[in-house]
Amino acid sequence: MSSNQGFCTFCLNAGKDKQDCYGHYPGKDCPTLGSIECNRCGEKGHTRGHCTADFCRFCKGFGHLVNDCEKLKEKIERDKNAYCSFCEENGHTTRRCDNPYNSRNIK
Ligand SMILES: [Zn+2]
Ligand SMILES: [Zn+2]
Ligand SMILES: [Zn+2]
Ligand SMILES: [Zn+2]
Repeated sequence: MSSNQGFCTFCLNAGKDKQDCYGHYPGKDCPTLGSIECNRCGEKGHTRGHCTADFCRFCKGFGHLVNDCEKLKEKIERDKNAYCSFCEENGHTTRRCDNPYNSRNIK
């Protein structure tokens, strides 16, 4: 039976000898693919074009989405505790105040 021999086009495209391409299919059995590092998320085992890593737009981190971002939760928590002495309100700091009557914003 030679049907389960396998032939890896990924190794072939990577410039490997044909004998190294036989015996497996592209995927997790592939030593070439296993040693390759994704230049998007930095994980090994896939290329950028096959990267399915979750990307967080908030912290620019991989492995989670913005909804699960710990840094964003921290920021929201910080903002909750922030206090603006100009508006006498919580939710932002005086430095980040966008109150039009705040002298910082008068041009
Ligand atoms: Zn291969
Ligand atoms: Zn990746
Ligand atoms: Zn994040
Ligand atoms: Zn304010």
